[in-house]
Amino acid sequence: MNLLVLNCGSSSVKFQLIATDLDRIAQNTDQRLARGSLERIGGEAIITLHAEGQAPHRSTAPLRDHRAAVELVIRWVCSEGSRISDVKSVGDIHAVGHRVVHGGERFRHSVLITDEVLRGIEECIDLAPLHNPANIKGITAAREVFGVGLPQAAVFDTAFHQTLPEHAYLYALPYQLYRRHRIRRYGFHGTSHRYVAYRYRQLRGIPRDQTNVITLHLGNGCSAAAIRAGDSVDTSMGLTPLEGLVMGTRSGDIDPAIVDFIQAKEGLSAQEVETLLNKQSGLIGISGLTNDMRELLDEAHEHNDRRARLAIDTFCYRARKYIGAYLAAMGGADALIFTGGIGENSAEVRTLICEGLEWMGLKLDAERNSQHTSGREGLISRDESRLAAFVIPTDEELLIARDTVRCVRGAPQRY
Ligand code: ADP
Repeated sequence: MNLLVLNCGSSSVKFQLIATDLDRIAQNTDQRLARGSLERIGGEAIITLHAEGQAPHRSTAPLRDHRAAVELVIRWVCSEGSRISDVKSVGDIHAVGHRVVHGGERFRHSVLITDEVLRGIEECIDLAPLHNPANIKGITAAREVFGVGLPQAAVFDTAFHQTLPEHAYLYALPYQLYRRHRIRRYGFHGTSHRYVAYRYRQLRGIPRDQTNVITLHLGNGCSAAAIRAGDSVDTSMGLTPLEGLVMGTRSGDIDPAIVDFIQAKEGLSAQEVETLLNKQSGLIGISGLTNDMRELLDEAHEHNDRRARLAIDTFCYRARKYIGAYLAAMGGADALIFTGGIGENSAEVRTLICEGLEWMGLKLDAERNSQHTSGREGLISRDESRLAAFVIPTDEELLIARDTVRCVRGAPQRY
C-alpha cells in the first residue's frame, strides 16, 4: 500500500509518502517514496518537495488553504516530474494517516476516521486549541480531495501516554476539576517516544516487556518519558505541551504563582502571559538571542556569550533532573535514549546532560558520542556502562504509516 502521511499545523502541511503493508512491517522493509513541506499557507507558501533518490525541489506559490496544499501535494506526487514510479494517479494512494495532537482520554490507540471520530477530535479542541483545529483542517481537506471512500486514520500524540498510572497523571488539584474538565497530565510526542522505544528493542534484540528506558525527545519542543516494560509510565509534558523540560521558546516547569505575579508586575493580561510562556521563554527567553540550539552553541563557543551559555546550562540541568526523577519513579532503567533535532545531532548537549551521572552507572564513550551526529543511530556509552545511552533518530511518520495500515487491514494495533 502507498500511504500519505500528513502532519498539519496552523499554516503548514508536512507530508511523507510511504510504501508499506503488513508483510513489509514484519520484515521491516517499509519504503519512503517522498516527503516535503508547505509552509506559510494562506499567503505565498514556501514549498519543498523531495522524492527519494532525487534532488529536493524548492519553490514558492500562493496557497489559499490546507485543501489547496493537499491538492498540490497529490498533483506533484502523481506527476511525471516527481518520478515516483509506483504512483501515477490518485488511485495509487491507498490511505491517509494523520498526526493528531490531542486525543484526550478517549483515544488510546490509532483509529480509522469516521464522522464520530472526527467529532471526538473536535471535542478535544478545548485541550489543544492551537493544534487540533489544524489537524481537523488537514483531515477535512484530505476528505474533500480524495472523497470519503478513501480510508484515513488518526494517530494521536497523546495515545502512547494513556498507560500512565493515576498517581502519575493526576495533578494535586481538587479532584472534581479532573472529573469535570479532565484536567490531568496527557503528555505529547507519544509517537516519537514510542518509535525510539521500538527501535531500541530491535537494536538490542529484546521483547517489549523488557524495554525499560528513559527517552528524551529534544527538538524545538522537548519532552522526556519513562518507559517501563514497554509502557509509558510518566512523561514531562502535561495538560498541554508547555510543562516539563526547557524548550526553544517554552518555559517548561515554573511555579504556577509566577503567572499572577507577572500579570500584576508587568500589567499583562492572562493571554499575554500565556504567549510569554509559550513563545518568549525557554532558550530564547534566557539567552535573549535565539531559540535555536545550534546558534546558541556557536555563540557560546565563538563569543563566549554568557547568556547563551546560561540557556544551554539551564536546558541541560533540567533534562538531567528529569532523568534522576524518572530513574527513581521507574525503579531504575537500562538505557537513556536521545532523539529530536538536538538529541540526534549535538554530542555536546548530550555530554552536558549526562555530566555527573557516572555515580548512577552512566559512562558516556566520548568517541562514540562524537560520531553520532547528523542522525546516525547507535550506542554512545561504554560497553561496561550499567545505564546505556543511545542516539536513535525519530521517525514518527513511519509509525503513522504503519498504524494506518493496521487500521485499514483490521490488524491489532501494536504499541
Ligand atoms: P521540531 O521539534 O520542530 O521537529 P527539530 O527536532 O528539528 O525540531 O529540532 C530543532 C532543534 O534542533 C533546533 O534547536 C536546532 O538548533 C537543533 N539542532 C539541529 N541540528 C543541531 C546540531 N548539529 N547541533 C545542535 N543543535 C542542533
